[in-house]
Amino acid sequence: MTDETAERVAIVGAGLAGCLLATLLGRRGIEVTVYERRPDPRAAGPERGRSINLAVSARGLAALEQVGLRKQALERALPMHGRMVHPPSRGQHAAPNFQSYSADGGRAINSISRAELNHALLDAAESTPGVRLRFSQRVTGVEGGRLLVDGLPGDPAGVVLACDGAYSAVRGSLDGFGRDHDFLEHGYKELTIPPRGDGFALDPDALHIWPRGTAMMIALPNLDRSFTCTLFWPKGDFAALDTPERVLAHFKEHYPDTAGLMPDLAGDFARNPVGSLVTVRCRPWVRDAGGTLVALLGDAAHAIVPFFGQGANCAFEDCIEIDRCLEETGGRWDRALALYQERRKPNTDAIAEMALDNFVEMRDRVSSPVFRLTRAAQHA
Ligand code: FAD
Repeated sequence: MTDETAERVAIVGAGLAGCLLATLLGRRGIEVTVYERRPDPRAAGPERGRSINLAVSARGLAALEQVGLRKQALERALPMHGRMVHPPSRGQHAAPNFQSYSADGGRAINSISRAELNHALLDAAESTPGVRLRFSQRVTGVEGGRLLVDGLPGDPAGVVLACDGAYSAVRGSLDGFGRDHDFLEHGYKELTIPPRGDGFALDPDALHIWPRGTAMMIALPNLDRSFTCTLFWPKGDFAALDTPERVLAHFKEHYPDTAGLMPDLAGDFARNPVGSLVTVRCRPWVRDAGGTLVALLGDAAHAIVPFFGQGANCAFEDCIEIDRCLEETGGRWDRALALYQERRKPNTDAIAEMALDNFVEMRDRVSSPVFRLTRAAQHA
């Protein structure tokens, strides 16, 4: 690192991790510039194709607390105290059953709008002295101690913190991150259950699950009393529902209790894209790129499938860990980032496996009588 670049810290990506990290670093007195490829989403509206709401757990809330956003997040959250399992209509266990997340019913995960959370984090970053946000700046790599923006040399940078998501351009532009993408054969499509009259069409205190073997649908409540449903299915199978009649017939057969709750089901199905589900495994997360220290965090380091609802929560924890490591190392970036990787990598490897395992549990096991009995015994 040269003297010129030593103190220049760049964050790539103003998503959930990038904004939280910028705020934490700014509060530490570090000057930081955040480069975001999109226009300012607070003016431009949400990006299509990402989940509309997120389940934020105690881990995520603890991180938000560090920048004073926990209360605000909870005020705009809908707590879900358990999962409501909707078994297939055939068979003896057809009625939905509620499985509490804790023995005393007190624990909940929180359904929070991704866009609102991102906006609140952007506001927090923007109002922190020392933080500069630059929108519509697509970073394409790091070269000769500078960021490349749209392929052209940009500002000098001594430290680059890549928070640019699962398909990270920073990670992709540099050798040595030992990356490995593992795509699930399943994709996902979002659908909507609108409010019914003045209320919710389903119980808003639960995360709803329709386990169907190779397929699964979940639904999380929104503040406007709608539910966002996410249908997970092998990617090739979505294309078979190529007419409104086929979509409606499929839902009537497999998700009969929802068919009447989705007036625009066929339209939603035709309009909304099929998203991919990827696990990213790479090591190291930190390397020297010609005098610039580059570190990956959030989905750029460890994207996981969403079945454990922990991707954003983990990304937030990465930020907190980097902040802690800077404190412990007296602000020495090289030592702090090495420590961050050492502490976080085993945890995120474990959660990636748990997320994959939880897919099997959610789509197959939660509706089995044996599983319900086991959980009931655990809570007794
Ligand atoms: P992102 O949120 O992807 O942000 C990356 C940012 O970088 C974006 O703003 C992007 O525009 C920007 N960017 C990208 N490339 C560039 C570039 N070249 N130059 C500049 N900027 C760039 N997690 C949970 O905790 N709970 C859930 O319930 C949950 N549900 C999910 C449901 C689905 C269907 C999916 C797909 C994911 C879900 N996740 C959930 C995971 C969660 O969305 C991610 O883990 C989280 O968004 C990661 O945050 P991030 O900041 O690392 O990346």
